[in-house]
Amino acid sequence: MMEEMRKAAKAVYEKSSYEEKEELNRLFKIMDRDGDGKISFAELARFMESADAHTRALFNLADQNGDGFLQFDELFMLSYLCSSGRPLCDACGVFIVGLFFTCTHCRLTNLPECRSYDLCIPCYRETKFEHEHTEFDDNYTLLFKMQHLLLSASQASTSSGVGKKGQTEALETLSSMASIVSFMGDLASVFLS
Ligand SMILES: [Zn+2]
Ligand SMILES: [Zn+2]
Repeated sequence: MMEEMRKAAKAVYEKSSYEEKEELNRLFKIMDRDGDGKISFAELARFMESADAHTRALFNLADQNGDGFLQFDELFMLSYLCSSGRPLCDACGVFIVGLFFTCTHCRLTNLPECRSYDLCIPCYRETKFEHEHTEFDDNYTLLFKMQHLLLSASQASTSSGVGKKGQTEALETLSSMASIVSFMGDLASVFLS
């Protein structure tokens, strides 16, 4: 499962521009305070200003060869994981790499702030959570629902001639979210197969 993530991260790195690669190099050198060419957990924790369980989980996830340090490609994997919008399970705190369940109400009503309530599959299945709302969708279903919502919103605004600005904003929010969700769906299909 993590092997697929690494392949995806590698592909993203190879497709990034010269400037982006330079930026990553610069970041690596800033984090590598003792200049030994690898990032220790202490160096990462200092950079992220956090040494909590989440930081530790991310570090362990990215530390492919398990030597307790992050080499350059492992750091890229970490930055890729962080930038891809993958959530933490709000019940058990695990970092969710693949498919997850999300509170439909929180996702659809907190769009501007992108606040959400997300659950890993085991927590959802075993109802190991307390939350004020009861309707949950997996990331595929949510994307499908949002497409329908957007469609009806755009039809409503076309007929009334108002709400153009709101519609544009909704489109932008949705397209950025859709790319994340569909990407996660692709990964999930790989992991679950
Ligand atoms: Zn969980
Ligand atoms: Zn909710």
